[in-house]
This record gives sequence, structure tokens and C-alpha cells, in this order.
Amino acid sequence: MANCLSQALSRGRLAQAYLFTGPEGSGKRRLAAEFAKAVLCREAGPGVAGACGGCASCQAVDGGRHPDVALFQPEKGKTAYPVRQVREEIRRQAYLKPALGGKRFLIVDRAEALTQGTGGQNASADTLLKLLEEPPPDTIIILLASHPGRLPDTIRSRCQQLRFDPPDSENLARQLVAEDGLDRDEALFAAHLAGGDLAVARGLLGVRKKDKPDLRAVRETLLEIVRSLPRRPYPELFALASALDAAARGWPALTGALGLLAALYRDASLKALRQEAGGEPGGVGGGVLTFPGGPEQAATDEAAAGSDAGRLRDAALRALEAQENSRRYPARLLLLEVLLIDLETLLSAERLGVPS
Ligand SMILES: [Zn+2]
Repeated sequence: MANCLSQALSRGRLAQAYLFTGPEGSGKRRLAAEFAKAVLCREAGPGVAGACGGCASCQAVDGGRHPDVALFQPEKGKTAYPVRQVREEIRRQAYLKPALGGKRFLIVDRAEALTQGTGGQNASADTLLKLLEEPPPDTIIILLASHPGRLPDTIRSRCQQLRFDPPDSENLARQLVAEDGLDRDEALFAAHLAGGDLAVARGLLGVRKKDKPDLRAVRETLLEIVRSLPRRPYPELFALASALDAAARGWPALTGALGLLAALYRDASLKALRQEAGGEPGGVGGGVLTFPGGPEQAATDEAAAGSDAGRLRDAALRALEAQENSRRYPARLLLLEVLLIDLETLLSAERLGVPS
């Protein structure tokens, strides 16, 4: 668990509100649950940080059925928290006495989906703010946000903030090689696809799952997109979109794949930048690249040779935007088609602009 939380725990000093920030997949939800588990654990002695993992309380948190730990997300089909949900669900639960004694945890996922009111209009962020201003004594509120900048300052300033670094895919990949018997390339790819989250990676790789994504095909399609996108006719773009959609078999892998696409374009952009500055092509230090080797390296080399740093950076941003939009898009295939057309236009336009 993050150091400052462990310290807060062992000294018995807990804030009433926390804000965990970090990119999607950096393990915010998992840490929030671990934190709750450690506080609520029946075996953890005074001054001992961390949960035993075996007591009834720990098991209930792990199973998502602890009466004093509630996770909130925007209602199904909604992109924002309606005021009603904050008032009737979050606020109401905040004032309930802890069922098993101790503390009560309210985990508000995607807190940036709390809306801000304009011109005196009541909005869900205001409703939550009132709760943060006078929090019930035994309730600990944990807000999770991938985009904390969208939260009002008034909310942020009332929370103890904890920033998560991007996931350590290298570490996770090593674990997947050692424990799951994956080959190194495949493991690194799965680690990136899962945003560095072991549980997600295992879920994606799980053999029992009927809708298990075809990782090899996801990877090949992504590389083909990066290598060859400019100047491809629409029918070929549609074929690529549908190949990616079919290989991912659902939002979890597809969301990861869009993040990977962004990482690939980011690598290509860094390489192009290096070339534009007159450096050796491929002379970008391994430490700053997401993919310093493997077929990903070859693909990003090709992309860097065919475009400029600015366009490639824009391409990375478009992929991230699509990843974010994927939450509210019911149609996966349409999202991919629109993205590929967009990327193709962006990257091809640049080629026309390059003097030959
Ligand atoms: Zn325990």
C-alpha cells in the first residue's frame, strides 16, 4: 500500500476525505479497497498497518459485500452523477452508522463525473461538497479521479490527495512470465493492455472466460494500424476497425488497446522529434519509450519515418480521446471506424504537406 496511507494507518491518523488520482488502470480502486480492508480488519493490531486478508471482514471487502464499504459509480448509461444519486445514495449512506463498528468507507469512482452547477443551478459536485464540509465522524470518503483537473478546487482542497504513478508494466510483465508462463513479448503486451493491473491482465488472459480477447490479433492489428495507416482507402480502414473489434471481444480489452495505440503513437512522436532535431533515428533512449524493443519498435520506427512529431502526438491524443469516449459509446465498431478515419486523415494530410 502507498506509504503515506500505511503511515496514517499505523499512527491512527486518518483524514475524512481522500482523493486518489492517476491514470485509468493505475490501481486506484484496488488501493481504496485495500485501504478500507486494512482499517476494518479485525485481526490487525494497534500500530499494525495492513490487513490480515483472512478474517471475516477482510473476506467481505474482497468479495465486495462488506456492509461498511460502498463503491459508487455513475448510474448505468449515465456519464455524470445526477444530483439525485449523490443525495439519495451517497449522502444517505454517509450518515448511516457503521454496521460492524469502526468506520464506514464511501468510494466514489470517476469523481470527475460529478457535475458543476452554473448560475445557481444545483449540481452533484455541490451536493458532495456539502457532505465534505460537514462529514459524519465515522465516515471516510475516497474520491477516485483519472482527471482531477475537472474537479472543482473546493472539492480538491477538502481532500488529502494521493497521486498514483502510471502503472509499472515492466514489473507486471515479469510477474506474468514467471507465474503465468507467458513469453516475454506477450507478457509485456498484456501488461500494457491491462494498464499495469495484474487482476485485469489475468482477467484478459483468463482461459475460462468465453469472451477472452485474442491478444495476438489485437497486437497485430494495432501494429498494422501504426505501420500503415496513412493513405489507406476507407474499406481497408473499416476492415482494420472490425478486425480490432473482433479480436478485443469487448470493452475491457478494447479500452486497453486504445491506450496502447496512444502509447505507440507517443513512441513514434518521440522518435520523429529526435529525427527533426537532427539526431540519429532510433537514438531515443529506451527509458522514455513505452516499447524500446520488439515488433512495436519496428512499427513506431516506420510511423516516425512517415510523419512528423506534431502529427504523431496529435494521433496519440486522438487515441486517448477515443479511449475516454469509449465509456459512453454503445457502438464499439463505430467508435473505431471514426477513430481510424480521423487518424488516417490526420496523418495523410501531413504527407501532402511535406515537400518532396
Ligand atoms: Zn483481516
